[in-house]
Amino acid sequence: MKRPFTIETASASIQSSIRNAVISFDEMTVSVIKVTFENNGHQVNGYGFCSNGRYAQEGIIKNRFMPRLHKVSPDSLLDDNGVIDPLKCWSVFMQNEKPGGHGDRAVAAGALDMALWDVYAKAYQKPLWKILSEQFNDNQVDEQIFVYPGGGYYYPGKGYEGLKDEFKKYQEQGYKVMKMKVGGDSIEEDLRRIDAALSVVGFGKNLCVDANARFDLKEALAFAEAIHPYDLMWYEEPLDPDDFLSHAILAESYVPSLATGENLFSKHGLQNLLRHGGLRPDRDWIQLDPALSYGLTHYLQIIEMIESFGWSRRRLIPHGGHQLALNIAAGLQTGGSESYPGVFQPFGGFADGYEIVEGRVKPQQEPGLGIEQKGDLYRRLKEIFD
Ligand SMILES: [Mg+2]
Repeated sequence: MKRPFTIETASASIQSSIRNAVISFDEMTVSVIKVTFENNGHQVNGYGFCSNGRYAQEGIIKNRFMPRLHKVSPDSLLDDNGVIDPLKCWSVFMQNEKPGGHGDRAVAAGALDMALWDVYAKAYQKPLWKILSEQFNDNQVDEQIFVYPGGGYYYPGKGYEGLKDEFKKYQEQGYKVMKMKVGGDSIEEDLRRIDAALSVVGFGKNLCVDANARFDLKEALAFAEAIHPYDLMWYEEPLDPDDFLSHAILAESYVPSLATGENLFSKHGLQNLLRHGGLRPDRDWIQLDPALSYGLTHYLQIIEMIESFGWSRRRLIPHGGHQLALNIAAGLQTGGSESYPGVFQPFGGFADGYEIVEGRVKPQQEPGLGIEQKGDLYRRLKEIFD
């Protein structure tokens, strides 16, 4: 049987002059994927990319994942209607991969899995969120999704006014809750930046701070004490993502919400955090990014796992600010999604013309992930692959 699909992959740059407390983004790249599927004589294209913040992983995709998909009978990758099946593909491309050791492999799988789900939903001519709702969520849907801009980066010459102007712009766009970077300067300086941000957003529950895993326990506790009175929406990645005991100690003294998980890449990593990190299901937030952690296919297992631990899926707000997280939030009813208006372009951000009302957005109505509806992203993907 002729193979009814082709897979192409490449690296793209999302280089930028911004920095958080730990890294600058001047070398940042992203893996991009195009899957083309012959569906009853029609060609359907699906696109994927590995979110942002880790580097492109073409080697793993080209040398391990693609050959495995090419080696098996094409029939074994199709569903009952003859459509390429992301769940079956995932099991095949992950064959012969040992447990553990996630990191870059999880990123490569996330990009490929995203393109497979895009093509699958397009073959059924439905938005991905609708497919997810029908197949995995008893037809339940969220029509308004909580989104917040992950912004407030450090960059040269920005100053307090630059931060305030950035946040005013988000407010004009309709956002309510926003996030800023901390930990890249002294506590005193960061507190002045937080005060500047609060003068725009109004009060603590409209502001999140993100230390990007910059602190050791002593520093994380000192920063927690300094921001405690603000009662912020959340204090993100205070500590190394794998230092579960320190998270547990911090959670004993810091009463408001903590958030973490964007640098955990599997359900097993998250399971360890839930078991040993002292996080509290009534207030803390989990931010694993499906595009960085083995894809939507694995994220379905993550939802099942956290619910078995007594956590609500509403505590999941993925890192990444992309269309995949938005479709997941709508169709699987998680807590919302990060958003990147203006950073990590053209991969960051949602489709064109989206209206944010009171910090919420509606999912797209077009089939698939909605990548074609984000003009700059679609143009870049066409430049790469066509
Ligand atoms: Mg973060």
